[in-house]
Amino acid sequence: MLHAMQKIAIGAHGVSASIGNTPILHDVDLQLSAGRWCAIVGPNGAGKSTLLRVLAGLLPSDGQVLLQGRALHDWPARERARQLAWLGQAETGGEDLLAWDVAMLGRLPHRAWLAAPSEHDHAAVAQALRATQAWDLRARRLGELSGGERQRVLLARVLATEAPLLLMDEPLAHLDPPHQADWLATVRAQVGAGATVVSVLHELTMALLADDLLIVKAGRVLHHGPCHDPVTHRALVAAFDGRIAVHPVQGQWIALPHVQELTHAD
Ligand code: ADP
Ligand code: MG
Repeated sequence: MLHAMQKIAIGAHGVSASIGNTPILHDVDLQLSAGRWCAIVGPNGAGKSTLLRVLAGLLPSDGQVLLQGRALHDWPARERARQLAWLGQAETGGEDLLAWDVAMLGRLPHRAWLAAPSEHDHAAVAQALRATQAWDLRARRLGELSGGERQRVLLARVLATEAPLLLMDEPLAHLDPPHQADWLATVRAQVGAGATVVSVLHELTMALLADDLLIVKAGRVLHHGPCHDPVTHRALVAAFDGRIAVHPVQGQWIALPHVQELTHAD
């Protein structure tokens, strides 16, 4: 439960959203505390990406989205872009840009029109590229990188913004396990420094390492609670129709699908 004094980084109140004529989100209410990492999970097509896009102000909705207590549409665009950094699912574009310049895009909300990057812009980009192990890629074109390399450059762009709220849709896509561990360390460092991280994750075991889970099913919030709470685990199992189980392994929680016994030829 939220403490009365806890600062809310972003909240949604009675939010519904449609794509075309199809209603996708139904009356979503949520409050995400500042300085925490919340993982959004749920079955394919549940509306996770749609919800994140609404929170980022990229998709219009009914109801209200409040960033730091102020309606999203009341924020001047540049100011809002400094507060909220966004990584979309399977982003494309900018294929001809060098990785360095992609990361520098994260600095746009801080830079005066047509001004050369400042020393701080350079430092933020360098630090972001190092944090995502993308420093050695800085002179390569985005279009010629592998899926995982590309994802690390896009993550660097998000970090370079130095925003207090990071919204990331499937940030672990294409990352191998060591780079997933780097991402975790980066998120922990960000949250430790006071940032709020909201990430859609389909890797449930990774999601269970977050502070809180927001479980979405059929366009509604099924549950929102701490990752270590058995009530959250039960809701997670229910969201996947009992086809997964949550197990404690070496001090952490692991979510595994039930696999039917395989018959071996021998
Ligand atoms: P998730 O991220 O949880 O997998 P999405 O938010 O991407 O789910 O999608 C929620 C629902 O909206 C799905 O049923 C999906 O098919 C539908 N949807 C998403 N994008 C579009 C679109 N551009 N046009 C029509 N339907 C869409
Ligand atoms: Mg999605």
